Amino acid sequence: MDFLRPRTWDEALAFKAERPDATPIQGGTDVMVEINLDKGRPAALLDLTAVPGLDDWTREGGEVRLGAGLTYARLIAELGAELPGLAQASRTVGSPQIRNRGTVAGNLGAASPAGDSHPPLLASGAVVEAASVRGTRTIPIDAFYTGVKRNALAPDELIRAVRVPVAAGPQYFSKIGTRNAMVIAVCSFAVALHPGERRAGTGIGSAAPTPRRAAEAEELLAGGLDWEGRGPLDPGLARRFGELVAGAASPIDDVRGRADYRLHALAVMARRTLGWAWNDYTGRAAA
Ligand SMILES: Cc1cc2nc3c(=O)[nH]c(=O)nc-3n(C[C@H](O)[C@H](O)[C@H](O)COP(=O)(O)OP(=O)(O)OC[C@H]3O[C@@H](n4cnc5c(N)ncnc54)[C@H](O)[C@@H]3O)c2cc1C
Repeated sequence: MDFLRPRTWDEALAFKAERPDATPIQGGTDVMVEINLDKGRPAALLDLTAVPGLDDWTREGGEVRLGAGLTYARLIAELGAELPGLAQASRTVGSPQIRNRGTVAGNLGAASPAGDSHPPLLASGAVVEAASVRGTRTIPIDAFYTGVKRNALAPDELIRAVRVPVAAGPQYFSKIGTRNAMVIAVCSFAVALHPGERRAGTGIGSAAPTPRRAAEAEELLAGGLDWEGRGPLDPGLARRFGELVAGAASPIDDVRGRADYRLHALAVMARRTLGWAWNDYTGRAAA
């Protein structure tokens, strides 16, 4: 196996153009597990950890631009106010050791339907910056996931950054696992209120071949929530929201959970997270 260690971003792009078969490695918390378990051996590793500046984040207007090397630990410590949904999801990833190495870009590269960053990225309307020697393009997050563990990157592209709108309202993430920590989601859900636009974003994890939004559930909230009056949440609306979220999923039975359990759990998580977010928005104490 060849080991490529670029010292600049341009060199990284040149390596990837020359060796599209090279597997990028950032935190290595997915890549090294695959190699150690003998689940395929990459022809080459493209180690991005020596590229300066990749672990930076910047605030640009209404967005935060997360460099591909930014770890969960730093995101949690530094961006909890700007990106509360993503920070909340990041707190549930693995253990402190994994959060000290793992990155959102690595989660996107792996594109597991169970990855914890995906639901809040979908709910927020994030955009992935994909770069190659041919230039940089942006991929809207809901066009990024193309199949089970597959994404929209071309073979010569690398993720340079992820751009996430700064929260304009309350955001929540919820995850069900077989225990409290170090666990792959049985299923997960994120909601983000965008009060200025009178709409809400959603993201479903681990309940379909790819992470996905619940479009009909979002439409229900756009038209059904009392955005102006900030009245209490109608329990019937919350229930219907849960049903529509579950209806947007297409889970399977697997070792972590049954499909019917996932559907039930999604409806409950959707209802609860909406309740928490609406209470924050309206200034009510949580029921
Ligand atoms: C014990 C343990 C617990 C875990 N728990 C969780 C959990 O609770 N929730 C969760 O979501 N995940 C979990 N994971 C999986 C993993 O930690 C995450 O997916 C993490 O986000 C991967 O980030 P990384 O930087 O380590 O990625 P890496 O392992 O370096 O890379 C992952 C994938 O992304 C690609 N990649 C990396 N950087 C780039 C780039 N710049 N451009 C293009 N492709 C790139 C790699 O080629 C690879 O395919 C766990 C892993 C372990 C070992």
